[in-house]
Amino acid sequence: MADCVFCKIVKKELPSEVVYEDERILAFRDVNPVAPLHLLIIPKKHIASVNHLAEEDKELIGEMFFLAQKIAREQGIAESGYRLAFNVGRNAGQTIDHLHLHLIGGKQLPWP
Ligand code: 5GP
Ligand code: ZN
Repeated sequence: MADCVFCKIVKKELPSEVVYEDERILAFRDVNPVAPLHLLIIPKKHIASVNHLAEEDKELIGEMFFLAQKIAREQGIAESGYRLAFNVGRNAGQTIDHLHLHLIGGKQLPWP
């Protein structure tokens, strides 16, 4: 997607603070963090939202969650706790239409 901000981050056309990268997934720091640790875990291929997931994406989603667990452990917040969230659509506040899993932690988080 030519005009997608996260596709541009994947292609390194826009800068980001990358914390993990492989052939299929990129994890980088949110530019506007809401907690001491706030990362975005995204598929490199453009998927607009959870609503746009296909059967073939099931393994990819599993990889994203498994990576979140690994990063949380590495960053030292696995025991204190963290939140994983997909915002889907306007009512949930999704502002970037490229699938992204928020990994948020490092402080007591308000809910909802
Ligand atoms: P959403 O509200 O769509 O679930 O989350 C989008 C997130 O992307 C927000 O937390 C926002 O701060 C972050 N974000 C938006 N543009 C950029 C950017 O250019 N770089 C980075 N690192 N984060 C971004
Ligand atoms: Zn995209």
